[in-house]
Amino acid sequence: MKLSSRPLNPLYDKKIVCLCCEKEFTSKQVRSSSTRVIKQDRDYCTYYSGENPLFYDAFVCPHCGFAFTQSFSKLTPRKKEIIEKEYFEKLPFVPDLCQKREIHHALQAYKWTAYTSYLVKEDPIITGNLFLRIAWLYRYQEKTEQEKRYLEIALRFYEKAYAKGNSEDIMNEHKLLFLLGDLYTRLDDYHKASKVFSMLLADQSVPPDIRQRAAESWNYYKKQHNKK
Ligand SMILES: [Zn+2]
Repeated sequence: MKLSSRPLNPLYDKKIVCLCCEKEFTSKQVRSSSTRVIKQDRDYCTYYSGENPLFYDAFVCPHCGFAFTQSFSKLTPRKKEIIEKEYFEKLPFVPDLCQKREIHHALQAYKWTAYTSYLVKEDPIITGNLFLRIAWLYRYQEKTEQEKRYLEIALRFYEKAYAKGNSEDIMNEHKLLFLLGDLYTRLDDYHKASKVFSMLLADQSVPPDIRQRAAESWNYYKKQHNKK
């Protein structure tokens, strides 16, 4: 058989060092050449043909069970203590989530990662992003109630991030404002959505991509809202 006739495995092993026990392990990642974007929702939830790279962005160490992403910062001794007490003691078992993942594996990995992110007080944008991804995993499965539950949690962290400011290096303020507005529409909070979108649409410094998403999101929601 010619080498070229063999289809390339869409997954490969990435070497990771655990932020907690500092041991090395490998976790699957998706080759960008073997996946294609089909569409994207306004809140950036992306649909792919082939393996979904989103399934693989949260790592769970097979040695100790610590769950994290590449956005996490180093764990201080104090944070390790918190993880020991609040996470490891409650972790029922250490599963192997480093292989090919189905959606339920991805959900498990993200739920644990969102929890550790909250425990070690990562930037609220990082924690919000993780909860938003859990909501997307439910959206893929059309589980609306669970999706909403996690959108609400994500929103709480984004609101906290906006109130605190100083997260520009993780997400720029316009994108954060847009996400706030879009989540308000998804959770049917007309008053807050209106406030955020009027701020965004009046601001001339907003980049065109975000301005367009904001206009679409707000117009779509107003139409839906007025039908009621
Ligand atoms: Zn570990």
